[in-house]
Amino acid sequence: LALYVAKGAGKNRWRRYQNHLHGAMVERLELRSALDHAVNEGHFLLQYQPIVDLNTDEAAGFEALVRWHHPARGVIAPDQFIEVAEESGLIIPMGRWVLDQALHTVAQWRRVLPRARQPYVSVNVSVRQFRQKGFVDQVRASLDYAGVPPQALMLEITETLLMRDDEDIWADLAVLQDLGVRIAIDDFGTGYSSLSYLRQRPIDVLKIDKTFIDDMVGSEQQLALVSGIVSLAQTLNLTVVAEGIEDATHRDILQRLGCPLGQGYYFSSPVGPTEALTWLTVNRAV
Ligand code: C2E
Ligand code: CA
Ligand code: CA
Ligand code: CA
Repeated sequence: LALYVAKGAGKNRWRRYQNHLHGAMVERLELRSALDHAVNEGHFLLQYQPIVDLNTDEAAGFEALVRWHHPARGVIAPDQFIEVAEESGLIIPMGRWVLDQALHTVAQWRRVLPRARQPYVSVNVSVRQFRQKGFVDQVRASLDYAGVPPQALMLEITETLLMRDDEDIWADLAVLQDLGVRIAIDDFGTGYSSLSYLRQRPIDVLKIDKTFIDDMVGSEQQLALVSGIVSLAQTLNLTVVAEGIEDATHRDILQRLGCPLGQGYYFSSPVGPTEALTWLTVNRAV
């Protein structure tokens, strides 16, 4: 504070700064209370984006992505509210709804599809959710309630958040993996990490962050990096999903590198549950 004034910002500038801070705080509080209301009223919806087998163009699974359906402001993207949901703890009831809704939907898809083509659903879970007592039991209960096997579920945890080396979380992940739930590291490559954790920890899937795919075309180095991740995964017996595939070039390169799975606007943007089912039954190949 003293420094700011001393820098000769002047009274007016200081006041503007205060007003700005005040405004941002009020905005955040308003967002939080609106979000609280949305959780109570169930003003959310899920969209599903296919996770595509790059060799067959068929959907192996779908990632569930939450949207806030605001009665006045329309559909709001998660980037606008997940952070506040995490800070406020609202991510816990919201996340429970997301899990139940996603499992309910995958149960419906699985009922109408032959066994060999039954997809899984992949759900984003924040570390805050893992920290709550009884999270594993909650997942178990939700699977039972939806009537789907654990193999129908994948959980995505971001690499950055896992780097805190929280033994309790790893223990929970191990229990879930033993049940048959798939564990994916989201945004892989963006968190600083020593890679050695990949060998020791209960992980099934690496999701290569979109930024790597973006830069792959113009840069030999970036291409080598993606190629390296794919072979690393093969060595460790992990599977890989490349995120953010936006054109045929991306797809072709990844296929050549031996990347098994991919996701992105080239295949489909996130869609509603009915359209996703169409994806599974009709337009399987693009
Ligand atoms: P994410 O998990 O990395 O999800 C991928 C995001 O990239 C999604 O944005 C998706 O719509 C977008 N995307 C997919 N393909 C492409 C592509 O080809 N090009 C580009 N430019 N973008 C693509 P979305 O749905 O806005 O989600 C943003 C983030 O919000 C997610 O990033 C995830 O971290 C978070 N999120 C979404 N749903 C949930 C949830 O239910 N729980 C939690 N905790 N976080 C969620
Ligand atoms: Ca994700
Ligand atoms: Ca991601
Ligand atoms: Ca992301």
